[in-house]
Amino acid sequence: MISKSHPRYESLKLREKIVKASKSGYLADSAMIAHGRGEAFDYMLREKTTLPAKRAMYVTVAMMLLAENPVISVNGNTTALVIDEIIEFAKTINAKIEINLFYRTDERVDKIASLYREHGYPGILGSNSDDIAYINEIKNPRASASKKGIYTSDTILIPLEDGDRAEILSKSGKNTICIDLNPLSRTSKMSDVSIVDNVVRAIPFMTKITGDLKMQDEKLLRNIIEEFNNEDNLKESLKLFEIKEE
Ligand code: ATP
Repeated sequence: MISKSHPRYESLKLREKIVKASKSGYLADSAMIAHGRGEAFDYMLREKTTLPAKRAMYVTVAMMLLAENPVISVNGNTTALVIDEIIEFAKTINAKIEINLFYRTDERVDKIASLYREHGYPGILGSNSDDIAYINEIKNPRASASKKGIYTSDTILIPLEDGDRAEILSKSGKNTICIDLNPLSRTSKMSDVSIVDNVVRAIPFMTKITGDLKMQDEKLLRNIIEEFNNEDNLKESLKLFEIKEE
């Protein structure tokens, strides 16, 4: 049990969630390494949501509100860290949720699907019984997608995605939005919108701003998107990384 007074309480709680998920068998071994890499980047951001990250999140919400078939792609780490927050965001913005695992096994997929059911979300896509197709006919497991979800989707939010998958999605012409603490990752560079923030802060932030953006007219949402330049925004994010003593 971690004491709430511990100076690293929030960070240790997240580690505990990853360890628990790993023990329950739905994370690949490399999930802990991916989490550790995220921690290091977050440390350099002082574990705070930056202005460029907020800007990218307004664009994301605008894009998802205007989308025909918005989908949130989830993996083991996202599920371990923010399952309830993902469900709430999906319901608020009217998006589907789809399982996508780098090291996909039927057992892991079943475990994740039943966790979503237990948390009140029965209709998850990408489950073992779902109808799967290959994006652009690429016969590669990283190109597989649910026919009702990512395969036919126009706008996809990919928290913590790997570069190969991000490349396939972005080349398919879909609007691709990532959440990745590493502004230099292939995923960040290939996405149309890159949110350089911790998924545990980003998802609730987007739920919070959705209510307000839903009230705005379409023209304003389109303006928010048109004024955004992901390359410039990533450069601005990168400048905010620093290591210095308090
Ligand atoms: P790429 O192929 O995109 O260059 P990678 O394959 O080397 O990246 P992975 O190990 O697949 O990277 O994915 C982990 C990524 O997710 C890392 O960039 C890491 O910074 C990021 N990450 C880990 N945990 C979080 C988190 N909680 N919130 C946001 N990003 C995170």
